[in-house]
Amino acid sequence: MTVQRRPTHQVRIEHLTIGSEAPIAVQSMTNTDTADALATAQQIKELADAGSEMVRITVNSHEAAAKVAEIRSRLDDMGCNVPLIGDFHFNGERLLASFPDCARALSKYRINPGNVGKGAKGDEKFAYMIRTAAEYGKAVRIGVNWGSLDQSLAKRMMDANLKLPEPKSPDEVMKEALIVSALESAEKAVDLGLPENKIILSCKVSAVQDLIQVYRELGERCRYPLHLGLTEAGMGSKGIVASTAALAVLLQEGIGDTIRISLTPEPGSSRTQEVVVGQEILQTMGLRSFTPLVTACPGCGRTTSTVFQELARDIQSYLRQQMPQWRLQYPGVENLNVAVMGCVVNGPGESKLADIGISLPGTGETPVAPVYIDGERAVTLKGDNMAAEFLDIVQAYVQREYGEGGKKRRQNRVIPIQAA
Ligand code: SF4
Repeated sequence: MTVQRRPTHQVRIEHLTIGSEAPIAVQSMTNTDTADALATAQQIKELADAGSEMVRITVNSHEAAAKVAEIRSRLDDMGCNVPLIGDFHFNGERLLASFPDCARALSKYRINPGNVGKGAKGDEKFAYMIRTAAEYGKAVRIGVNWGSLDQSLAKRMMDANLKLPEPKSPDEVMKEALIVSALESAEKAVDLGLPENKIILSCKVSAVQDLIQVYRELGERCRYPLHLGLTEAGMGSKGIVASTAALAVLLQEGIGDTIRISLTPEPGSSRTQEVVVGQEILQTMGLRSFTPLVTACPGCGRTTSTVFQELARDIQSYLRQQMPQWRLQYPGVENLNVAVMGCVVNGPGESKLADIGISLPGTGETPVAPVYIDGERAVTLKGDNMAAEFLDIVQAYVQREYGEGGKKRRQNRVIPIQAA
């Protein structure tokens, strides 16, 4: 099976290539005050360590713009080369003009045509930002958003629609206006001197079916790479499910070159959750691999203890924690598949399919846990120390199979992706 990706221009952003058959990139956005350079650099580093390949920061004030270059150099000092995207609204041209070191330190500018300004003044501001991007060789994402659609364009299109013999519904016109706003802004940017291969588009909405419809249409009508995301996806499982439902359909159709999951974090929870969810969408679809995955059964009346739930959780968090180091040391380890199963019903079968699997004893079963390695029963664990012993087995397997000379080193298990 292959996934046919929509053909696009390829956009280079520092060391990353975006578009066509290049890997779909995972982005994230900080929620710190950009004027607090230390806190922002620390959060960007956390996001990058979690696997975010670009990080967007808000650049909304003089205080924020004044700190962007410092944030960049703090990251460089930490050995973190993640490209930074500046998110501009309302006053981007003034900030770029007043802080050329900010303009240089960013790798990409996000410009929302609905929040640039109205009429000739808005056109001038847009032109200034685009010319600045062109001058510094920066990429631009023209990011249209349902909640901040260019109202003069929307009105123009609504008025034109009313004159049609069979007018479309206002909802359909608004979706068309989103697409037109992105495409017309891209055309203006090219006319202003920004090369086509510096432009990425997005048209974010907050409803799943609308997002699918808008991106299918947008994808048909241009060759720019597209950034996907359901805006204001929400909190917790609702945000995750809605984002996954929308993105999975589009990604399967080959639409989408970068993604961001716009989750509202639970108070006090880590911002990195949006990166993990983005990676897991791509990985569970077989489009990319980032971190070894744990296959775990849901548990049922046959598992009255929480041992297997705890083991599944501990293994997954152990594997994630190892990844910053393992990624460098054991190329290909991101494809590792570990199974943690709760009883003998599906345990042995699922464990044999994984690279390493453990089938824990269900209620009333003999208190032993067979471990399967590459489909063969390798050892049987028992006693109170099974979790630690199993982690040792995983660690030894990773060293043997993904270390120097290992059979699975650099093995690629993702679905082949082709440009259509
Ligand atoms: S593997 Fe066993 S414990 Fe897990 S869901 Fe299936 S029957 Fe229940």
